[in-house]
Amino acid sequence: MHVEGLAVTYPIPDDEEQRVQQVEAYLDALDPPLGEPFTDMTGLASAVCDADAGTLSFVLSDRLRFEATVGMNLDDVPREEGFCTYALMEPDEIMVVEDAREDDRFKEWSFVRTDPGLRFYAGAPLLTSGGHVLGTICVHGASPQDLDAEQKEIMDRLRRIAANKIEVHRRTRQLQDAREDLEEVAEELERSNEDLANFAHVVSHEFKDPIMQVVGNLDLLEMTIEDALDEEAREHLEEVKAGMKRLTRLIEDMLAYAKVGRGLDDVEPVDMQALLEDVEKELEPQIVESDATVQLEELPPVEADAAMIRRVFKNLLSNALKYRDEEPPTVRISGEPEDGTARFIVEDNGIGIPEDDQDALFEPFQRGANAAGREGTGVGLALARRIVERHDGEMGVESTQGEGSTFWFTLPHATHAPSEDTPPGDPFTA
Ligand code: ADP
Repeated sequence: MHVEGLAVTYPIPDDEEQRVQQVEAYLDALDPPLGEPFTDMTGLASAVCDADAGTLSFVLSDRLRFEATVGMNLDDVPREEGFCTYALMEPDEIMVVEDAREDDRFKEWSFVRTDPGLRFYAGAPLLTSGGHVLGTICVHGASPQDLDAEQKEIMDRLRRIAANKIEVHRRTRQLQDAREDLEEVAEELERSNEDLANFAHVVSHEFKDPIMQVVGNLDLLEMTIEDALDEEAREHLEEVKAGMKRLTRLIEDMLAYAKVGRGLDDVEPVDMQALLEDVEKELEPQIVESDATVQLEELPPVEADAAMIRRVFKNLLSNALKYRDEEPPTVRISGEPEDGTARFIVEDNGIGIPEDDQDALFEPFQRGANAAGREGTGVGLALARRIVERHDGEMGVESTQGEGSTFWFTLPHATHAPSEDTPPGDPFTA
């Protein structure tokens, strides 16, 4: 296509719009310019072709921009005065102009007509991976000249190497940009997670005091007016007290959940045996009341925040006692090292969990249909999994309804022996 118009008197390729977009995108990626490798390739082209000079140019919408020049100094030139403008019309060819004075396209150009002027030109188009021409690697001379097959072959190789270099540079830049964006997003996410965790912590804390106050006053009120209460009023009062108790537990659980979001405290080797014995002691009333048998096997030490791990076992063991079937509960707690981690199992013979419910129950405030009539807030499992994940571990459950449940989780295996210290108290309720 050759456009003869008021402003445009040079050929324009069919893909001009996309081509120019690509040129601009590649030039963005080449800022700062590649420099030395381009100059080396241009110099090589010029030497191989016995030419006076060489350039590596990008053809923009209105001008040629030189990324490298050898043997001459050139600023940008208007597109209508560039040989490369013509070379990009045949993307797969090396355009050779033996003597520009004899070519109708160029013979009127001022720098062709003057003496000494420009006579010889050979330009090899630089193609993008999408097949658009960015510009050329080209050579020039003041005397007429041709290229032999070998020189053309080398020019062809050089243009491929240059295009490849440009492509690699652009992709590297894109990757760097994407990585920077990703890092920014990750930082932002961490900041907002921390904000959220801090907010939840403050809110739960603010709720706790007034609720405790109401509970205390309720007890006082009950003592004061006990004799004056009839059966119905007494029942209402009991309901209010039960509601307040539930609210207190909910706030405590939320506080604990928010606390995990704020990070781990002391990560150190933990003696799991001692920790479990301590949890068992704390749940002694429920164990006795349900006539349960707790089988505690030898457990591997872990590298963890002991207070949090204590909470995980406490939640799992108390659930195993709570979601019991008709027969007295038997709970087996075991663990073993596995691929650099320690894998723990809490297995019960309780009511089990329907398969469809199993994943959802790890979300906060989700209670199963099997929980009807049993106290709880629906936060225990979510909290346990969150703690495990904070330690880079995983947690899951396998269960058959009516036969029992097996909760499992992994934690980092301790590389050195735990200290003799007694396990720390529960940070969530302390
Ligand atoms: P909560 O016990 O307060 O309801 P959890 O988050 O600890 O909350 O447990 C979520 C749900 O998972 C429970 O409501 C119950 O439906 C189910 N669940 C948890 N542990 C067991 C278990 N050992 N056996 C059967 N169901 C369980």
